[in-house]
Amino acid sequence: MNTDPACIFCKIIAGEMPATMVAEDEVTIAFMDINPVNEGHLLVVPREHHQSIASIPGSVLSHMALIARWLTAALRASLVRTEGVNLYLADGAAAGQEVPHAHLHVIPRWRGDGIRISVGRPATPTREQLEEMAAQIRAAAID
Ligand code: 5GP
Ligand code: ZN
Repeated sequence: MNTDPACIFCKIIAGEMPATMVAEDEVTIAFMDINPVNEGHLLVVPREHHQSIASIPGSVLSHMALIARWLTAALRASLVRTEGVNLYLADGAAAGQEVPHAHLHVIPRWRGDGIRISVGRPATPTREQLEEMAAQIRAAAID
């Protein structure tokens, strides 16, 4: 299995660093974010070290999504204030990724919590611009 001895999340997985666990199985671990955006903020982390989702095997990525769904239901049923949930994944430093071990954030939300994940949409493209962008993405997509 891929691991990186310098990686904080690999150290948590190896039991070399503490974390407050919520769920563990053979593919993923889920623990409390040490610096939560909102109370109850969780991270779903694959045991395998992959910096980008690009290299995570599909079965592992699907498992992360299933665990995130399960934790979303758990949050909604729990005493943690949860009127809604954001699932969030930062792939690459430019997207805000700080820990280079791909992971999925599960963030409980409530009306008026003051959190802004979307900070505005600077432009409204024309239909032609959308078509051109879609064509570029389709042309580069690899099966
Ligand atoms: P990223 O910006 O990479 O998507 O998110 C990294 C997340 O990991 C941040 O929300 C940050 O608070 C959390 N984090 C960083 N180091 C640790 C740690 O040592 N333990 C825990 N539990 N969370 C961490
Ligand atoms: Zn790692």
